[in-house]
Amino acid sequence: MERKLASIVIIDGVQPIPGADLIQLATVKGWQLVIKKDEFRVGDHAVYCEIDSFLPVKEEFEFLRKSSFRKMGEQEGFRLKTIKLRGQISQGLLLPVRVLGDYEYTLGENVAERLGIIKYEPPVPASLAGLVKGLFPSFMHKTDEERVQNLSEQYEEYKKHTFYITEKLDGSSVTYYLNNGEFGVCSRNLELLETEDNTLWKVARVNDIENKLRATGRNLAIQGEMIGEGIQKNMYGLRGQTARFFNVFDIDKYQYLPMEEFVPFIESLGLETVPVLDNSFTLPATIDELLTMADGASVLSPKGKNAEREGLVIRSLDRKISFKAISNKFLLNEG
Ligand code: ATP
Ligand code: MN
Ligand code: MN
Repeated sequence: MERKLASIVIIDGVQPIPGADLIQLATVKGWQLVIKKDEFRVGDHAVYCEIDSFLPVKEEFEFLRKSSFRKMGEQEGFRLKTIKLRGQISQGLLLPVRVLGDYEYTLGENVAERLGIIKYEPPVPASLAGLVKGLFPSFMHKTDEERVQNLSEQYEEYKKHTFYITEKLDGSSVTYYLNNGEFGVCSRNLELLETEDNTLWKVARVNDIENKLRATGRNLAIQGEMIGEGIQKNMYGLRGQTARFFNVFDIDKYQYLPMEEFVPFIESLGLETVPVLDNSFTLPATIDELLTMADGASVLSPKGKNAEREGLVIRSLDRKISFKAISNKFLLNEG
């Protein structure tokens, strides 16, 4: 699923901000952002650019230079991230539809490419990137989670389900698979060659993951988050690196194991799951309340510290519904 970084939306709400005369708070789906007063009205169509958008250097985006200019490798652009203005969280950017020029858009349409908007990706350390063996195999899915702010249409229906909650760890995705006798190691988007130095392969060797998967006699993939030294900010203060798993995928059935099978399975391999915080959770009344619950200390905080966790991943017990609630406190601290 490609993220729709810029899409055509309807403005759902516009509210005043106490004590601020020149700005207002707009809501779009489950997102809120600060706009100039009277820039948009409820019901207007607009282009909404999500956080992590990297906008090209063009005249019409120059107003972003002061706040958002950034380089991504050699490329210059404007990066949208979570900010706080007058005490209000503001995420993303609304542009008038006229930035599309003379173009017949449809509601919900992804217009990122038309506007030259790509995703801002922080640099990946060499020890994680590794050497590429090939594309991510098509007999399984890449790891990914939708943001709850984009699920406002589904949220009411989701309230009927029971969920389990895991802590979302801020590391790097890893997939280990055994398929028809072949063992493989993948990062987020690619399959990696075995090398001495690659962290994902090192952790596989240390934990004997290949043999453990062989011993099951099944075609399976296990997917998790690699955390530790040299990965993101290592807020967990770990020495070395370790993988914490959140998926077991049955390649032959082409489906994930439900919660009640996934946890014991990972434990039976002598591996660890991501921290399970709750296993009989029902959704609060609003997306905003869920986002507030996402703030909190990581259960993996180093002793005596309260590391701000990245957020929560919320899944129905059968694993068919899955999405993330990223902590806004975490996002506001992000460099
Ligand atoms: P985005 O799509 O929002 O741009 P992203 O897909 O690059 O972001 P994340 O925001 O990190 O990445 O969200 C999805 C990732 O979260 C998964 O690919 C997985 O690696 C990671 N993750 C960390 N902890 C968990 C967890 N507890 N459950 C599921 N996934 C997790
Ligand atoms: Mn994603
Ligand atoms: Mn991540």
